[in-house]
Amino acid sequence: MSTNNSPWIKQLARTRPIAENNNINDTDIVIVGGGIAGVATAYYILQNTDKKVCLLEADKVAHGATGHNAGQLVLDFERPLSDLVKQFGFDLVMNSVRDLEHSWILVEEILEKIKKDVSISTFLQSVGYTTYDQLIISLEESFLRRQANLHAYEVFVKKEIIFKEEDLEKYKTFINFVDEEIILNLLESKDKKYIAVSQTKAGCANSALLTENIIIYLLENYKDRFYLSENTPVQEVVLFENNSIIKIPQGEIKSQKVVLCTNGFENILLTNKSGGDIDTKFHHNVEGYVGYMAAYTDSLGRNPTALTYYNTESTDPDDPYFYLTRRPYDLEKNNPRSNLVSVGGPGIWLPDSTHYQRTNPYPEEIEKSIREFINQTYIHAPDDTEYLFMWHGLMGFTKDYLRLIGYEPCNNTLLYNLGCNGVGLLTSIYGGYRVSKILSSDTVELSIFDPKDNRCEI
Ligand SMILES: Cc1cc2nc3c(=O)[nH]c(=O)nc-3n(C[C@H](O)[C@H](O)[C@H](O)COP(=O)(O)OP(=O)(O)OC[C@H]3O[C@@H](n4cnc5c(N)ncnc54)[C@H](O)[C@@H]3O)c2cc1C
Repeated sequence: MSTNNSPWIKQLARTRPIAENNNINDTDIVIVGGGIAGVATAYYILQNTDKKVCLLEADKVAHGATGHNAGQLVLDFERPLSDLVKQFGFDLVMNSVRDLEHSWILVEEILEKIKKDVSISTFLQSVGYTTYDQLIISLEESFLRRQANLHAYEVFVKKEIIFKEEDLEKYKTFINFVDEEIILNLLESKDKKYIAVSQTKAGCANSALLTENIIIYLLENYKDRFYLSENTPVQEVVLFENNSIIKIPQGEIKSQKVVLCTNGFENILLTNKSGGDIDTKFHHNVEGYVGYMAAYTDSLGRNPTALTYYNTESTDPDDPYFYLTRRPYDLEKNNPRSNLVSVGGPGIWLPDSTHYQRTNPYPEEIEKSIREFINQTYIHAPDDTEYLFMWHGLMGFTKDYLRLIGYEPCNNTLLYNLGCNGVGLLTSIYGGYRVSKILSSDTVELSIFDPKDNRCEI
C-alpha cells in the first residue's frame, strides 16, 4: 500500500512534460502556487485583464491539496453562519455569502470555456445531526438565509424530537417532522443516532483534473502572456511600493504584483521594503491540519451523492466529523466502470514548526477509525471493505477559518487567495475571480474574506 495514493492524481494520468521555464525576468503578475486557487486566479486575470501572468509551482500543478481532497463542491463554511454574523455583522456576512454563491455559475462558465471533459455531478447533499444543539445551528442557518432572501432549505427532524417553545416558534417554517426511516434513508445510514438531516446544493468533481485542464487551456490560449514554471519553489519575495522581486532557483523575476496561492505553507521569506513586517504576522495566522481519506470501488447503480455525518455531540468546528462521497469513477477514459466511495474525516493538527510531507505514512489508527465509522454507519458498506486508495492532504486553517482573498494590508504589491480549510474548492475559484476584479480596479464590495491588518495583534 502506498503511503499517499490519491484517486484524483491517478485519474490525472498526466503525460504533459514538466514545464520548467528559465526565461522569465519581468512580468506584470506572479502567481505562486499551481493548485486550483493559483490556476483559477491565473484564468481570471488573463480573462479579465491584459496583464502578463507568470505562475510558479514548487512541484507539479494540482499535486497539493487540490489533488488530495474529497472533491465535494459545497459552499459551507467551517463555522456556523450565526458565529460569522456575530463577528462581522449580518449584512457583511450575507452579502459575502450571496456573492460566493456565484461560484456555481463560475464553474459552469469555466467548463464551457475550456471545452474539456471533466465530469461534475450535482445533487442535494444530506447532513446528519446527532444533537439538539447541532440541529439548532442548522435551523438558524436557514433562518438567516431566509432573512437575506437567499434560498433556505427545510430541515428533516425525527418526529419524536421535542423543541423548546421559543425554538419551535422561530424555526417552524423550516422544520419538517418525519419518521426515523426517512432520516436513515436520506443519510443512507443504519446508525439510529441521527435526529435530523439538512440538505444543500452540492456536487463532486476531480479538482486535480479540472485544474490540469484549465492549465492546458491557458497554455494553449494565452501563449503570448502566460508563462508556467513547475519545479520552481519561490524562496523569497521582496516587496517594494509598486513592484517586487521574486527569487527562484533559476534567478530573479521582477513583477508589479504577487499573488500567493500557496495554501498557506509556502516557506517563503517575505521581505517588505515598504511598510511593516508581514512575514511573522502572516505565518502565525495559518495552522496546518492533515486530513485523511480512504476510498473503495463499488458497482455502478446508486446515484452520485455527498453525505456528511456529525457523529459526535460536538458543535466545535475543530472537532472532526465524517463525510462520504459516491460518484462514477472513470479511470478508463469515457468508460465509467464503477462508483468510487470516498470517506474522510479524521485528521491531525500539525504542531507549529512541523512541515508536512506528502510521503508521510498513513497512521494505522486513522485507517481503523474510518473502517469502524463506515461499518457502523453506511448502509451499503461491503462486509469487508478493501480500500483501493488511501490518501492525505494538507488544509491550511486561517485564524478565523475563512479564506483570505485580496490585498495584504501592509503592502498592496502582495495579494492572497489562500487558506484552504476543509471546504475550499469553490472558494478557491471564487477567490481567483475576486482577485481579478480587484486587480482590474472594478469596485469590489467589502467581504468577510478581505485580509485584515494583524499588525497590532502579535
Ligand atoms: C483531505 C482533504 C479533503 C478535502 N475535501 C474537500 C472537499 O470535499 N471540498 C472542498 O471544497 N475542499 C476540500 N478540501 C480543501 C481543498 O482541497 C482546498 O481548499 C483546495 O484544494 C486548495 O487549493 P489551493 O490551490 O489553495 O492549494 P493547493 O492545491 O495545496 O495548492 C498550493 C500549491 O502551492 C504550491 N506552493 C507552496 N509553496 C510554494 C512556493 N514556495 N513556491 C511555489 N509553489 C508553492 C504547492 O506546491 C501547491 O501545489 C480538502 C482538503 C483536504 C486536505
